[in-house]
Amino acid sequence: MSDTTEERIVNNNLTFRQANERIRSKAEEWDAPFDRFPFLCECPWPDCVQIVRLTIREYAAVRANPTHFFTAPGHEAAEEPVGRVVGSEDGYVVVEKDQTAVEG
Ligand SMILES: [Zn+2]
Repeated sequence: MSDTTEERIVNNNLTFRQANERIRSKAEEWDAPFDRFPFLCECPWPDCVQIVRLTIREYAAVRANPTHFFTAPGHEAAEEPVGRVVGSEDGYVVVEKDQTAVEG
């Protein structure tokens, strides 16, 4: 992994993923499986502050695959060259990364 652009994308994704895991653990305390909670867009743009609203179930479905991330609509373009869109949902886009990129 010598491409610094790819490294930046992956590292940024992982930072947001950790933050979103904390949001999930708080959201789960509410026990409201049909409510949408504000998660952070996981795109690699350093100045992105977009909020993406997912239910706990939707969030868990993305997180169930370690190579999957979600972004706000339009932000998936920033995932190139390591990601490709695998799902376009209501209010967010699911992007799949190369396994090698995720593992670093
Ligand atoms: Zn974004």
